[in-house]
Amino acid sequence: MNVHDSERVAGTLVAHGYAAVETMQEAGLILFNTCSIRDKAAQKVFDRLANTKALAKQGKQFGVLGCVAQAEGEAIFQRAPHVSLVAGSASYPKLPELIAQLEAGERRVSGLGEAADEAFETELTRRDHPFRAFVTMIEGCDKHCAYCVVPYTRGKERSRTSAGILREVAQLVELGYTEVQLLGQNVNSYHDPSPAGFDFAVLLAAVGEVPGLRRVRYTTSHPRDFTPSIVEAMGRNPVLCDHVHLPVQSGSNAVLRQMRRGYTRERYLEIIAAIRRCARPLAVTTDIIVGFPGETDADLEQTLELMREVRYSGAFIFKYSPRPHTEAQAWEDSIPDAVKTERLMVLQRRQQELQLAENQAFVGQTIEIMVEAFHPKLGQWAGRSSSNRVVNFVAAGAAPSASVPAGLNILGQAPPPPPSGTLAPGAYCQVLIEKAGPNSFVGRQA
Ligand code: SAH
Ligand code: SF4
Repeated sequence: MNVHDSERVAGTLVAHGYAAVETMQEAGLILFNTCSIRDKAAQKVFDRLANTKALAKQGKQFGVLGCVAQAEGEAIFQRAPHVSLVAGSASYPKLPELIAQLEAGERRVSGLGEAADEAFETELTRRDHPFRAFVTMIEGCDKHCAYCVVPYTRGKERSRTSAGILREVAQLVELGYTEVQLLGQNVNSYHDPSPAGFDFAVLLAAVGEVPGLRRVRYTTSHPRDFTPSIVEAMGRNPVLCDHVHLPVQSGSNAVLRQMRRGYTRERYLEIIAAIRRCARPLAVTTDIIVGFPGETDADLEQTLELMREVRYSGAFIFKYSPRPHTEAQAWEDSIPDAVKTERLMVLQRRQQELQLAENQAFVGQTIEIMVEAFHPKLGQWAGRSSSNRVVNFVAAGAAPSASVPAGLNILGQAPPPPPSGTLAPGAYCQVLIEKAGPNSFVGRQA
């Protein structure tokens, strides 16, 4: 989502006559797009800013965008005095105005307003990704999980109209994209504000029908709003990729209750059972937080047990960190960091074992890959399956030579789709899987 926000910022500024440069040395204004989901991510921006003081002395200006800007506000000016602009994501359409104020000589400029209730601008987006296009369908979040800063930094939930989303997807296909990824903090709670009244499953099915699209991904799902109709839509149309990212956060009912997640372990497992009944196998990935206040060894054991039961094909596991403006911030951060680290490692080890075991079953199968890159040192191509698994492979026949095409630009042209039969980023091919590791596969073009 942050990558896509940067594309929107870049597009807005390019449309107003600014140009992106390759290095900080060449820039007049340097903008950091930031994440405040965990303390570590938020600290990163201050470390990076501390390293830019010499550039500030040369007269360059600095801005902080995104969730750290929204959460810390003008306090950033005190903490990093060479910053002259702070703006949260709701203020991005106003960025040209804010920068004009800087150019007019104002020393400190901020855009920290609440998100407007209007449809988001998408036409001014610089597409930096050569073969995957991101499409925001819903912004903000109304869930208020006890640990999470997102509802504060990204505001209330707002859905785009189904017609707007479908129009953008059709335009992306015209530009040459065959894969889109629908984005939202909680895509499942999508409510079409137009009279068409689509829910998420209906919208997903409609996106899957856009002619010319070959892969549709979406993230993130929330178990509370996940419906069987989503699985049915996926089962009907293989353009909808074989992957569901369904964060569980914990396998313990006591922890889930404290987290205010709004579902139990049993309910979550029912949803998994529905996903497993899909007409074709779907990969399920998750997010897990360890060390939430009050989490016991027995709670952790429940999470381990759940991981074994679900057999995730991937898991992002995080150590809890207290965040500003959240309910849990007031609670004692009771688990020492060393214990959090130990729990993180226990879960990661379990997940690696499970992944290795599951991945072995793919050896000998031929699967469709979308090519992403060529690694000259290894002489291998890399790509992803519909289920989002990473596959490294050697080409059939001649040695490959293609390089990654430059990204799309709102003012430029889409890279031409690779001629069928040739390997290039964005092309599709069949790959025979020869070896499986816990995180990726090795194979050869079939
Ligand atoms: N909207 C998505 C995820 C948003 S944030 C959802 O509800 O699942 C991405 C992940 O960051 C979360 O799933 C959670 O695992 C993690 N996360 C959020 N707040 C955190 C915190 N305070 N400490 C550690 N991890 C956190
Ligand atoms: Fe955060 Fe919960 Fe909303 Fe996800 S659903 S963004 S974890 S508050």
